[in-house]
Amino acid sequence: MNKFWSPAVRDLTPYTPGEQPRLNDLIKLNTNENPYPPSPRVLEALQGEIGETLRLYPDPDAERLKQAAARFYGVETQQVFVGNGSDEVLAHTFQALLKHDLPILFPDITYSFYPVYCGLYAIEHICIPLSERFEIRIGDYRLTNGGIIFPNPNAPTGCLLPLAEIGALLENNTESVVVIDEAYIDFGGETAVPLVKRFPNLLVIQTLSKSRSLAGLRVGFAIGDAGLIEALERVKGSFNSYPLDRLAIAGAVAALEDRDHFERTRLAVVRSREWLMRELSGLGFEILPSSANFVLVRHPLRDAAELAALLRQRKIIVRHFRQPRIEQFLRMTIGTDSQCRALVESLRAVL
Ligand SMILES: *Cc1c(COP(=O)(O)O)cnc(C)c1O
Repeated sequence: MNKFWSPAVRDLTPYTPGEQPRLNDLIKLNTNENPYPPSPRVLEALQGEIGETLRLYPDPDAERLKQAAARFYGVETQQVFVGNGSDEVLAHTFQALLKHDLPILFPDITYSFYPVYCGLYAIEHICIPLSERFEIRIGDYRLTNGGIIFPNPNAPTGCLLPLAEIGALLENNTESVVVIDEAYIDFGGETAVPLVKRFPNLLVIQTLSKSRSLAGLRVGFAIGDAGLIEALERVKGSFNSYPLDRLAIAGAVAALEDRDHFERTRLAVVRSREWLMRELSGLGFEILPSSANFVLVRHPLRDAAELAALLRQRKIIVRHFRQPRIEQFLRMTIGTDSQCRALVESLRAVL
């Protein structure tokens, strides 16, 4: 703290990202990155963009990218908003659509950036407890609210809420915005994008960081009624005209266009997840059902922090949250088959 700080800065509690270690001989299973490289067409598009045009600003509207996302999801370009990672899209969403006089609702165990944005933008919130089995019960969200947000599949639990339940939630909640953060939807769920036509208060947020192996490029987007998108554009235009640089736009377009690579790599992750879940359960772990590219697991006989430390000695990093209800769990990202095997062998040894 220092006397030059604005008072609001004193009270902020920033998000703690998972560690990005400098050593590169580690098996990194702590931040849900995709273990497979991005599409070769992405790399080509990036290379094509490196040249003298970098002296020029990028398209402030990233129109090509909006068109590519609109084509992929069968919506209109005006129904798409793009940003510098979905974290930025989320930030604008909190400010543009979730800040009202009423508190917003999200689960007690969820993406830990949500309370951080509430702090930044001074938005009241109520945490709705997940069920005993860590599931979202939509009946618990029937409170007057300023908005509702949760990831589907939820993070860090991996549990999926079926699309029909999201439809039912929207039927019952027509007076505030419902945001579905679909960072992991491609690993086992059905997107809520088709519901956008029926519900002008639904915003679906996605990212290229996980299922398209582009965490380093920082591209996320939102799909919703054009009225919601306009609010996001107003905040974006008051914050940064060029959140996506030329490389990001070119790479993201190529990623959305390479459907084969997308299908192959996401199915590979799903297959590895099924294998890993069987092996972990053979080692005595309790595993929450996962539709994501990670699993949340707990060993009934071993302390989670201790297990994480033992794995780290063996050069494998996983994520441990010091948080009520899940402090005895570890979140493990699905790696390549050989990384998954290394994880299982190390666990076998330390157990
Ligand atoms: C990873 C993640 C994001 C953020 O992704 P970006 O890299 O900022 O696009 C958003 N929501 C959830 C639930 C995530 O796990």
